[in-house]
Amino acid sequence: MLLEVDGIEFSYDSTPILKGVTFEVKRREMVAILGPNGAGKSTLLKCINGILKPKGGVVMVEGLPGESYGTRERAKKMGYVPQTNTGNFMTVFDAVLLGRKPYIRWGPGERDLKLVEETLKLVGLESLALKRTNSLSGGELQKVVVARALVQKPRVLLLDEFTNNLDLKNQLEVMKLVSKITHESGVASIVVMHDINLALRYSDKFVVMAKGAIHARGGKEIIEPQLMKEVYGIEVLVGNLGGVPLVVPIEGGVARDETGEDAHAG
Ligand code: ADP
Ligand code: MG
Repeated sequence: MLLEVDGIEFSYDSTPILKGVTFEVKRREMVAILGPNGAGKSTLLKCINGILKPKGGVVMVEGLPGESYGTRERAKKMGYVPQTNTGNFMTVFDAVLLGRKPYIRWGPGERDLKLVEETLKLVGLESLALKRTNSLSGGELQKVVVARALVQKPRVLLLDEFTNNLDLKNQLEVMKLVSKITHESGVASIVVMHDINLALRYSDKFVVMAKGAIHARGGKEIIEPQLMKEVYGIEVLVGNLGGVPLVVPIEGGVARDETGEDAHAG
């Protein structure tokens, strides 16, 4: 197993936030973490990559406790894209090159520069290489941080709401890219997402969190109306459109509108 998250407990001050969170991710597997705001998704990602130290439980990476790796080694293993990102005076090229930091001793080598170049091409940023990151659009900046995580050549990719700010085409492209990297190069990816449909389309497994604990986990089949009701408190239809699984909220939507129209007509 590439990544084992076993019984993670965490609290900020004395408020318990994560309560015994347990799941595993295999090589070539993309796991989506879903759940309402405040469920503890971002906190969980930070516990997995070691930014936060869990109060209980253990994170095993390739069979060893995460803590047993030094900071540098752990950074080589895990690429992390935080939920919020801001630009600065650095160029796109340099910002992505930063991802190579755990590998660089005396200054970037040819391989580092080449990897950055290739990755910029991969995410479609090559024409912006010399632009400062504080003059990018939200979507472009989002691609920069994804590229930075990718040049790290990590074994585990942790992406926190990384499709935010991206237009529809870019959302699909970046998700497809992460899915491709996961399935082809044997990485394990964990993606925190709000867009259930985007998650359903590309992820292999699902972990649904509520109030700091795992409410359900499994394959696509677990995403059904009862679960959505329990976790998000909304009514949904779960269907399929042109082979693509689809979750559509109906509360305040289709069902009620029809009634509303009828009422007006009458
Ligand atoms: P999610 O990513 O699922 O929206 P978070 O992990 O960001 O949830 O937050 C989980 C809970 O922890 C929330 O109640 C939030 O208010 C709280 N929280 C998050 N960060 C901090 C912090 N730095 N200090 C105290 N409480 C925090
Ligand atoms: Mg979050």
